[in-house]
Amino acid sequence: MAIPDVRLVRSGIRRRVRAYRPRGGILMYHRVIDTAVDPWGVCVSPEKFGEQMQVLAESRGAVGIDGFAGGGRAYRTSGRRLAVTFDDGYADNVAVALPILERHEIPATVFVIGNAVGRTREFWWDALDRAVLAPAVLPGELEINLGADRRRFTIGDGSDMRAGDGRWRADIDQPVTDRQRLFFELWNAIVVLDPDEQNQAADELLAWSGQPGSVPPIMIDGDEFAALAGHPLITIGSHTLDHLSLTDLSPQRQRAQIHDGHRRIEELAGRRVTCMSFPFGRFDDSSVGAVRELGVDMACTSVPEAATATDDRHRLPRLQALDIGGDEFARWLRDDHRLLRT
Ligand SMILES: [Zn+2]
Repeated sequence: MAIPDVRLVRSGIRRRVRAYRPRGGILMYHRVIDTAVDPWGVCVSPEKFGEQMQVLAESRGAVGIDGFAGGGRAYRTSGRRLAVTFDDGYADNVAVALPILERHEIPATVFVIGNAVGRTREFWWDALDRAVLAPAVLPGELEINLGADRRRFTIGDGSDMRAGDGRWRADIDQPVTDRQRLFFELWNAIVVLDPDEQNQAADELLAWSGQPGSVPPIMIDGDEFAALAGHPLITIGSHTLDHLSLTDLSPQRQRAQIHDGHRRIEELAGRRVTCMSFPFGRFDDSSVGAVRELGVDMACTSVPEAATATDDRHRLPRLQALDIGGDEFARWLRDDHRLLRT
C-alpha cells in the first residue's frame, strides 16, 4: 500500500472545505487575438472570447471586481458571481475585447503595467515567443548576453527545430525538443534580469533568429488607456511598474515596483486605483506586505481556484480562461469549479 503524500491529503481536504464555502470566480485573460504561437495559453481568439462572454451574459452572474473586496458582496448575493480581468494592458483589449464586453454589458478590470502605456516595443516575453517559437527553422547555435553573462546554447542539427510545436504549452508540457528546451532556459534566464538587460536580450534574440527587430506597438497607448479608464464597464488596476519577477527581487525593490507602478497608473487615470495583480502570478510575504501598505482593496494572484468568502483579499485566486468555445467554457465553469448553475 502506498503511503499517501500528506501534502496531497491536506490539499484534498482544503479543496473539499473550500468547495462548500460561498464562492465566486475571478477570470484571468491577457490577449484577445488569433495566434499560432501561445506557449502560456494566454491568448483567446475573438470568436471564442465572444462565446465566453455570451455564456457569462446568459448566466447573469458577471460582476465588477469590487464585489470581491473586503465586504464580499460577490459571495453574499445569490447565484455564482464571475468577474472578468485582463493583465498587462494589450491594445487588443480595447480594439477587440471592449466591443464584445459592451455588446454583452460585461464589466471587466484591466491590470496595466505602469511602463506598458505608450510602449512601442514588445515586452521580452512576446519577443521571445516570436524569436524562438515562431520561425520554421533556427540557427543551430546561439551566443547571447544575458545580463553580465555571455551564454552559449547549442541546439543540435536543427532536425527538431521545424515548426509544428506551436501547440506546446510551457506551463503544462515538459520541454522535449531542443527548441522547447532553449525557450525554457532563455525564459528562466531573462525573467530575472533588469528591464534594460531584458530588452537587450530580446534584441539579440530577434536578430539571431532573423525576425524583424520591431513590430507595430501591441501595448495600449495613452489614448487607449484613457478610453479604458473613462469607460463605465472598465475598472483599472495596476500590475507593477516593469512586470519583473517580484519573488526574485529584494523586499525594497518589490515595494518600489509595486508602489511606483501603482502611482503611475493612478497618475494616468487621474484618480485612486484600488486593485492590483501580481506579474507572472508570483508573490511572497514581502510583496503582499507592500500591497497592503499601498492600501488597495484587493490584489489578484494566478492561483487557479475559485475565490471564497474567507480568502485573503490581498491574494485572491484567479482562473485562467483558455482558448475554448462557449460550451466547453460553460462546462469548465460548472463542472470543474461549480461557478455556473445548470
Ligand atoms: Zn502580467
